[in-house]
Parts: sequence; C-alpha cells; structure tokens
Amino acid sequence: MKPIISEETRSDCIELIANLVKFPSVNQEALDNAPFGKAIDDALTYILAFCEEIGMKTYKDHMGYYGFAEYGRGEDLFVVLCHLDVVPADDEKKWTSPPFKAVIRDGNIYGRGTADDKGPSCIALYALKTLIDQGYTFTKRVRFVFGTDEESLWRDMKRYVEIEEPATMGIVPDSSFPLTYAEKKLLNVIIKGPGSDQLALDCGGAFNVVPGEVTSSLTQAEEVYQALLSQGITADKSGNEITVYGKSVHSAKADKGDNAVMNLLAGIDKVYDHPLVHYLVENIGHDPLAVAIFKGQMKDDVTGNLTLNVAKVIINESYSEAHLDLRMPVKLTKDFLVKPLYDSIERAGLVGEEYDYLDSIYIDKDSDFIQKLLDVYRNHTGDMSEPVTSGGATFARTMPNCVAYGAKLPDLPSTEHQIDEHMSLSNINLALDIYTEALYRLTTVEGID
Ligand SMILES: [Zn+2]
Repeated sequence: MKPIISEETRSDCIELIANLVKFPSVNQEALDNAPFGKAIDDALTYILAFCEEIGMKTYKDHMGYYGFAEYGRGEDLFVVLCHLDVVPADDEKKWTSPPFKAVIRDGNIYGRGTADDKGPSCIALYALKTLIDQGYTFTKRVRFVFGTDEESLWRDMKRYVEIEEPATMGIVPDSSFPLTYAEKKLLNVIIKGPGSDQLALDCGGAFNVVPGEVTSSLTQAEEVYQALLSQGITADKSGNEITVYGKSVHSAKADKGDNAVMNLLAGIDKVYDHPLVHYLVENIGHDPLAVAIFKGQMKDDVTGNLTLNVAKVIINESYSEAHLDLRMPVKLTKDFLVKPLYDSIERAGLVGEEYDYLDSIYIDKDSDFIQKLLDVYRNHTGDMSEPVTSGGATFARTMPNCVAYGAKLPDLPSTEHQIDEHMSLSNINLALDIYTEALYRLTTVEGID
C-alpha cells in the first residue's frame, strides 16, 4: 500500500524547517573542526541528531566538512544531496520579518534557507521518515548527505567524493521540478592586468550575479557621463560619482540580464586608456554570448549557448582584475572552449587564471530512473512538461546519476538568495507527497512496480 502522510507529519516538517532556519549558517571564520564557522557546524550537528532520532545511522566528518545519515539495506546507495549553508541575509532591515526566524504568513514560510536549501532538505527528510514510520522494507540504502559549503566553493563535496562512497543514483532537492537532466560546465576566470594612477574602480560582486547597478567615483566623471549618454546608456551623476544601471540576473541566465559594470566600462573606455577596460569593452561589451572572443556562437542542441558574465572589475594603483563567469554547453569540450578565451586575453597583454571549474552533467532522460521521477511528479501535479537543462550548478554534478529534482514548483517565483526568501506551504505539501512517493517507488520493496 502506498504511504500515507498525516497532518501531523506535515506540521512537524514545517517545524523542522523553522528550527533549522534559526541557525544563521552563513560562511564564517573557520574554527577547529568547523571549517566554515560555528553556525554551520551547529546546524549540521542539529540535523544529524534529528536523523539519529528518527532511526537513521549518522556520520559526521571528523574535520567537519559534511555529515550524512543512512537508512535501509542493499548494495545500491540512493543519495539525497542537501546543503545547510545559506547566503548572507544582506540588508536585514529590508526583510519584512527577521531572516533567521522563520515566520508563517500569507500561506508561506519566510526566512533565509526556507527555499535554499533547508526547506527542501527537510521535506525530503520527512518523506523518508514517513516510509520508515510506516515500516516499509528498503531495497537500497538511502543516504542523506548534508553539505556545508554549497554557496561558496564546494569544499565539502570535494572532500566527500575523495573519501566517501559515491551514489549509485540520487536526487538533489535544491532546484525546481520537474527535473534537470543537464547542467552546463561552469568556469570562473580572473583576468589580471596592470594598475593605474588615473583610474580606480571596484564594482560588481559575486561571480554568479550579473551586476544590476554600480556606482563609482571618477576623476573625469563629467566626460564619462557624457560618453555614457551619447551611447544611450542610462546613468546618474552626482559630483564625481556616477551610477549606471542594468538588470541583475543569475549568471546562469546572463543572456537575460543587462550588465551594469559593462555599461559603465563602455563610458570609461572612451575617456581613460586602460588595457583591461579596453579588452573587456572590445571583446565582450554588451554581448553575453561573447561572439567576438569565440568567433561565433558556442552552442549545442541540449543546453544552448555559452554565456559569459563580467561579475566584477577592480582597478587600483598596483593591479587590475576582472572576474568572469562562463556557463558552457555540455557537448563542447572545455579545452575547445577555453583556448580562444585565453588566446584573446594573452593578445591583449593580460593574464587569465582559472579560479574555479565544475564539469557539466548530462544524464539520459529516457532512463528508467529519470522516467520514474518524472512519472511521480506528473501524477501529483498533472504537469506534463519535459525535464529541463540549466546553466546553474547543483550538487548533482558531484556524483554519478544524480539529478536536481524539486523542491520548487515551476510556476512559482524563485526567491532563493533574495530578501524575504520563502516557500509556499502548498508547495511544501506537494513536494512532500512527491518525494515520499519517489522514495517509495525507487527504494522500497513495496514500491517496485
Ligand atoms: Zn542551494
């Protein structure tokens, strides 16, 4: 018989999310055996204690990089890849309720981590708890892996894959339904160049964000301002300060944004003479597909175009650098793609250095595993949409046969990393139904059809 989810289970799940949100698990200074700080370590200890309580065997990495909890028996290891770290709350005053206190209003639960990724992790955990409580017999070991560095450099999973057992298959509840079967290659490059005694800049931010607004103080502000206006770029000037606008989006969708840093540089390049600025304007400009560098569009029929985001530019007296984030099609090789990039950087007398690289994933969407996951989602929602590909990166790419699967419903807005991050209670309920049935069908004797 299919598992039944009680109202009590549903409210307990919400309570677990709320308890986890209380830990301000933002990357902080390392302590002994807590490489990402105390709050992240406390959240990890808390969730492992909960797993122990519901009957799972738990293990915490002695260096504190990750933990996992396991239930069931069998050769195969079905992994659920979660993460407990969150991005900073930014301006806490702009939140309607405090970011690290979960509050329910208007049918949503609000708080940092409710959508990314504490909420989805707890829902998946309650799906397993439902099966454990109702006495099903497992055909696989189900292992929840709790990462702690997903929002930064994935040092948690890099250590996990070095020393722990990989998944036979698994899901990552850190995205949207239906599921993501391909994720582009992700490359971060830092271009280094000379400093300047004329021009000082420090604008933009994290690699994964297309800058939406930048303000800079410039010695020749009036000239730059006029150069911007003459190119039709929206800007404000106050004294020596110039503010330039764009549209901020995630780097994975750089072609849907408008890069404010590049808009500013278009004006600066007309007034100042700096090789890094000139390189960026000439070779990238307002084109997130970077056709000038690659001599055409780099794309495939699975994941579409390569996109490039100039996330940050720094120029001071001693050095200059630009931070680039590239999302690259799964079917084109890394070597093929990076050569023209590094060649163009070198030709400009600058130096390109790889800062981070994550390989792509591309899983057969006709496999039995994927079809079962899809079928469960479709049965519960009636939504027949096809699995998707993404420029984003989830832990799915750290292990074989793993795919991002929920927990957000595709028609709801994405609030991760934003002020007033939340998850709707109806989304939570539906995701709990879906995860419970997916685990039932994929990991229990009773669920096999
Ligand atoms: Zn996440």
